[in-house]
Amino acid sequence: MSLITNTAAELAAKLAAKEVSAVEVTQAHLDQITASDDTYNAFLAHNDLALQVAADIDKQRLSGENVPALAGVPLAVKDVLVTTDMPSTSGSKILEGYMSPFDATVVAKSRTAGLVPLGKTNMDEFAMGSANENSAYGPVKNPWNIDKVPGGSGGGSAAAVAAFQAPLALGSDTGGSIRQPAALTGTVGVKPTYGAVSRYGAIAMASSLDQIGPCARTVADAALLHDVIAGYDWHDSTSLKHDWPLMADAARAGADPTSLKGVRIGVVKELLSDATQEGVRQQFEASLALAAAEGAEIIEISAPHLEYAVAAYYLIMPAEVSSNLARYDSVRFGLRVTPENGGTVEDVMGATRAAGFGTEVKRRIILGTYALSAGYYDAYYGSAQKVRTLVQRDFEAAFEKVDVLASPTSNTTAWNLGDRVSDPMLNYLNDATTIPANLAGLAGISLPVGLAAEDGLPVGLQLMAPQYGDDRLYRVGAAIESLITERDGKPFWQHNPVFETAKAGA
Ligand code: GLN
Repeated sequence: MSLITNTAAELAAKLAAKEVSAVEVTQAHLDQITASDDTYNAFLAHNDLALQVAADIDKQRLSGENVPALAGVPLAVKDVLVTTDMPSTSGSKILEGYMSPFDATVVAKSRTAGLVPLGKTNMDEFAMGSANENSAYGPVKNPWNIDKVPGGSGGGSAAAVAAFQAPLALGSDTGGSIRQPAALTGTVGVKPTYGAVSRYGAIAMASSLDQIGPCARTVADAALLHDVIAGYDWHDSTSLKHDWPLMADAARAGADPTSLKGVRIGVVKELLSDATQEGVRQQFEASLALAAAEGAEIIEISAPHLEYAVAAYYLIMPAEVSSNLARYDSVRFGLRVTPENGGTVEDVMGATRAAGFGTEVKRRIILGTYALSAGYYDAYYGSAQKVRTLVQRDFEAAFEKVDVLASPTSNTTAWNLGDRVSDPMLNYLNDATTIPANLAGLAGISLPVGLAAEDGLPVGLQLMAPQYGDDRLYRVGAAIESLITERDGKPFWQHNPVFETAKAGA
């Protein structure tokens, strides 16, 4: 089999056994990017130093030095994370070419673990979107079908992993941007507990909701990357001091599906609706039936306030966006546009922001500024915060009865490029299933559980765990993944049409 169709765990094993070199592994993935990225547009920048980094790792390994377990495994990095050796744009023109003087903590940790950053992945501008069509650098195409969107905002990271351009990627999830693209591309994505992974060096969208997490093709691979990036960081005031268990251990324990015996899985009634596509509902229910056959208890749960989660999110998130994006003032970062006849500093700021931000970003800044303005603050922002508390209480009550909660990750499979561009509401509503976990700071995973009968596209199962309960996601997720593999006779990612060509490659 070609190198690019190996999982990260397989690559790590082959590298450790010196069956392959980090240079060979890196080169194979760079070749796949070169061969396919004109089609997918998953990358915004490439790392010119990747092969050199890989060569250094090979040298260390050959000289008998102790190298970390993942040393030499390639990584794609969402462009929302700042890096010293590649530009960081967050998908925006206002940051075009911006070079950061420091690495985001998760990037620094990845480098220390010997992961080889290949490049920066495309995304909706400032992580605002559900289809990757709000990127200032063009949309990403879904590797399963290039007429379809890959989801967003982390469409680039998800597509890179799905298209065998990288076995692992970093993403960010404010309202679903890791989990929803994972669902639409048949990959695995995890939003850790809020505060479990440092946000230092993550270009802020909405700070009380943003969380960095792993993207991969298997649950075990996501766990490996999770263990690399998690942990306390004094640079991030919301970082949790906690003695986390290894997620890789949880995934290993879960790989035996008998571990599902007695696990209580709550199905959130409010997250299944008329908007749920039939094929999505079928595969969701089939995956739970497999778990039930292993002795998991499936329990219906009602969380009545989840109905208001999207509405609350679209007040809290824009409020934080309007504040966070005030820093792009033409003075400190990136773009500066001077009006033709000069003007005051405010004129320069106005011209810069008018030229540098896209439509969706402007829409949210205006909405947020309005929601926070005197006279409206209590009615909008204040009410939304109360709803947020009610959502949190619903989850607290639910987790007294069950170990994890389940829902489809996305109500639909991937839709056609261009279909929802003119109607932002359709994009907003697609996040009804993922947003509640962000409002409550919970951990959530999306893993593929089948293909929808009507269009043959991947369906994602979302599992949610209470804060600090991230290991439950890996345990239960790996168990369900094993059952799906057993049912299909092959790992889910091998259904991907790209697999056949990738297999034949280097
Ligand atoms: N799609 C959601 C939005 O547009 C979530 C984005 C995200 O998680 N970054 O806000």
